[in-house]
Amino acid sequence: MATKPGIIDEARSEGRTILTEIESKELLKQVGISVIDTKLAASREKAISISKQFGFPVVLKIASPDVVHKSDAGGVKLGLRTSKQVGKAYDDILAAISQEYPRAMIQGVSVQKMARPGVEVIIGMSKDAQFGPVLMFGLGGILVEILKDVSFRIVPLTKRDAGEMVREIKGYPLLEGYRGQQPVDVSNLEDWLIKLSEFSERNPEVREIDLNPIFAYSDGALVVDARVILEEPS
Ligand code: ADP
Ligand code: MG
Repeated sequence: MATKPGIIDEARSEGRTILTEIESKELLKQVGISVIDTKLAASREKAISISKQFGFPVVLKIASPDVVHKSDAGGVKLGLRTSKQVGKAYDDILAAISQEYPRAMIQGVSVQKMARPGVEVIIGMSKDAQFGPVLMFGLGGILVEILKDVSFRIVPLTKRDAGEMVREIKGYPLLEGYRGQQPVDVSNLEDWLIKLSEFSERNPEVREIDLNPIFAYSDGALVVDARVILEEPS
């Protein structure tokens, strides 16, 4: 599928190498990867009107190129159920960020639908000096942070590579369904790995992709947080 490189070109023309969460999600959508509906709100009022449009519950996150780890800085508020909660979350996020990052350039907040719970997984692309683009797959949250339970393959990925990547992590039984949980749609995750492999091959100006987390379901999956980083212009 052809990807419109408009988002990449635009960021580059502005001298930026980090795409915002919203730009990153838009790019993924163009690649055929499902993302949770997300919009930028530059004011408190806008955050409330977008929330009403999406329907509650919603999530608010700081939108700033200077804040990479949003929740560490008090920049993520989950499960907001009323306009009042959204308004308060907006104020709290801006207050927390201006404390932690007094010089941050703040665009506002991203408003998104609260995704239904799923198994949290991550997919990443980074570049190895020797091998070029490499894809990573793992389980999200503490499993990746503490146990480093991840698998890697060099781009371009075959279907077989994608299948092996998903199955070789130690946590794979969690995807197969445990204790009465429904199994996760693994073929959808394999499909995304292939799509990202093709995308990385076609777009060498992309340096890094971080989908963390993806909520995996028995019927598909949704990216809830995404970050795309571009190479420095040469
Ligand atoms: P960061 O990684 O920058 O701290 P995230 O956007 O990943 O921020 O949000 C932190 C956590 O909040 C995620 O790992 C996920 O568990 C949860 N989360 C984020 N967005 C959503 C959403 N739209 N629906 C449900 N849960 C979410
Ligand atoms: Mg994240």
